[in-house]
Amino acid sequence: MPGTDLLQSMRWRRRGGAQEASREDGDTHMTHGRSAGILVESQKEDSVQTLFTNARIVDATLAEPVEGHVLVEDGLIRDLAARPVAAPDRLVLDLKGRTLMPGLIDCHVHVVASLMNLSANAQLPNAMAVLRALPILKGMLDRGFTTVRDLGGAPFALAQALEQGLAAGPRLVVCGKALSKTGGHVDLRAREDVYDPYRWGGQFGALGRVADGVDEVRRACRQELRQGAHFIKIMANGGVASPTDPIAWQGYSADEILASVQEAQDAQTYVAAHLYTSAAIQRCVRAGVHSLEHCNLIDAPTAAAAAAADCVAVPTLVTYEVLTEDGPGLGLPPDSIAKIETVRGAGLGSLTIMREAGLPMAFGTDLLGGGHVRQSEEFAIRGRVLPAREILASATTVAAKLLGMEGRLGVVAPGAIADLLVVDGDPLADISLLATPQRSILTVMQGGVVHRHAAH
Ligand SMILES: [Zn+2]
Repeated sequence: MPGTDLLQSMRWRRRGGAQEASREDGDTHMTHGRSAGILVESQKEDSVQTLFTNARIVDATLAEPVEGHVLVEDGLIRDLAARPVAAPDRLVLDLKGRTLMPGLIDCHVHVVASLMNLSANAQLPNAMAVLRALPILKGMLDRGFTTVRDLGGAPFALAQALEQGLAAGPRLVVCGKALSKTGGHVDLRAREDVYDPYRWGGQFGALGRVADGVDEVRRACRQELRQGAHFIKIMANGGVASPTDPIAWQGYSADEILASVQEAQDAQTYVAAHLYTSAAIQRCVRAGVHSLEHCNLIDAPTAAAAAAADCVAVPTLVTYEVLTEDGPGLGLPPDSIAKIETVRGAGLGSLTIMREAGLPMAFGTDLLGGGHVRQSEEFAIRGRVLPAREILASATTVAAKLLGMEGRLGVVAPGAIADLLVVDGDPLADISLLATPQRSILTVMQGGVVHRHAAH
């Protein structure tokens, strides 16, 4: 929306724990109130309060939308009231009945995957790979994803850099490098290549590293956890984007999976596993894996077993649509293109199977390279078979619980982190609104800081 963004050129950044406003040319828009819309009162340069007035508050924990006013202070939601709240040094955003909802959480992304060809991505020079990740991160935040969980590639240092305001992007929850066996989903060597599979593991652009056998898996888990991984990611089935592992091949053996679960649990966290088939899911559920990624080929008994074990599934349907439509043009190798249909067709049916089994589903997308711009389409795809409220929960409350941030993220409630979106329309009446964020999401606030604010 060129020309309509109020704060596009005005960045509110958190630096060294203090909030600092740097204004380039956006403040005339603010002080003169030329938005003809929701920004009606300016704030002082050093103010850390924002007041949303006349909001229609929607979150997945509310039975009905609530009309009210929300005060944000020092990065947190401080107050939520039916009457206007006193806040002397505030930025006031009069929403005039528009929706105020929690920031979105995508629980399966790869922010360092700037190329769809993951072998080429792993071989990018580090400086190139870092800089190519920056627009991916900013794009996610622009679309309203204030927190994302990275399932392979992003190091803890990147999460720290974003926390320090060095670049615009979602709050990052990371696993470091994903782990697979030789010939598994992160072994990107062509079939005829016999060189060392470990050579790319340290590269910024590598999504994973190879570790074989219980001892190596344990060591790899410990190394990732020592370096700041919030959880562990393993590959438990073949995958689309790797060349030599058919989808139905099992990834790690049961004892290797169990070793990873023990290491994660010893570090008070959990394992997320890439998988599609019921055989792989059952092996992982038995071993204690908590987060089940993709799950396209799950059957009803397996879904029931996963639900009974308190697992969370993270379907990622949009990536298969993007790979099918855009993969050949965006550099996806022919070996991968041949595998897409094995999992794509079953995707929507898997949502119904998991819902009927009572298996919680978090929101995920798993996009690569040029596909990232289609992240929000996942809302429209799920909307074909799931109720809007459940989809909203998947990207807010269910996701927050999976991240161990229940009550802190994913809700509009006092004490929660002020990750908030202003939406033009009611996502509970039409979830596909969230699939067109450039049009429907007017404001993105992250940690009490306005990242994007568009006039209407
Ligand atoms: Zn993935």
